[in-house]
Amino acid sequence: MASNNTTSNKIIIFSAPSGSGKSTIVGHLLQKYPFLEFSISATSRAPRGQEQHGKEYYFYSSEEFEKLIKEDAFVEWEEVYKGSYYGTLRSEIDRIWAKGHTILFDIDVKGGVNLKKIFGDAALAVFVKPPCVEELRRRLIGRGTDTPEAIERRVAKAEEELTYEQYFDVVLVNDILSESLTEAEGLIDSFVVNR
Ligand code: 5GP
Repeated sequence: MASNNTTSNKIIIFSAPSGSGKSTIVGHLLQKYPFLEFSISATSRAPRGQEQHGKEYYFYSSEEFEKLIKEDAFVEWEEVYKGSYYGTLRSEIDRIWAKGHTILFDIDVKGGVNLKKIFGDAALAVFVKPPCVEELRRRLIGRGTDTPEAIERRVAKAEEELTYEQYFDVVLVNDILSESLTEAEGLIDSFVVNR
């Protein structure tokens, strides 16, 4: 679909406790809708595996990131994990809107709340939620990437993050993935396509 007035100057935010399946939903939407463009965040964490500067993230040292904070280069930023900054550059929003695309954010819960406050009706804020905390724990164990201590830390963080769902426009409970994908498509269709 071509970019036009319905697709530009809008943002869609997906936030979730980790292990909720948010990235799978975001990846699906990016494939399905060519007018959606992923907001590449800046971060001070090191690249993992094949990650490249300008693709998954803009990678900076902590010093560079702090300099950008001082220069007011960010629309929002958070220290999501101790010692690791993440933020959205103002220039990233300009870059994507200049193409007439809708910006899709995969961002932590506090960042999502901040963006919704800033962008108001131009933003659709979606909170992706696991069916229950026990299921979240099961998924994190199944993923096999974290130690038992790290899993308990993530679960504790998730319990705190779940208290923010009230600030989002929509809560999407990710129980059966195929159903969540269809529901997510419906949200895009009503916020962007059928306006
Ligand atoms: P990871 O290091 O696993 O790629 O991401 C860690 C967390 O940081 C995820 O919850 C991700 O959504 C969040 N995140 C990524 N970019 C941003 C950003 O620009 N701002 C904020 N506040 N959080 C972000």
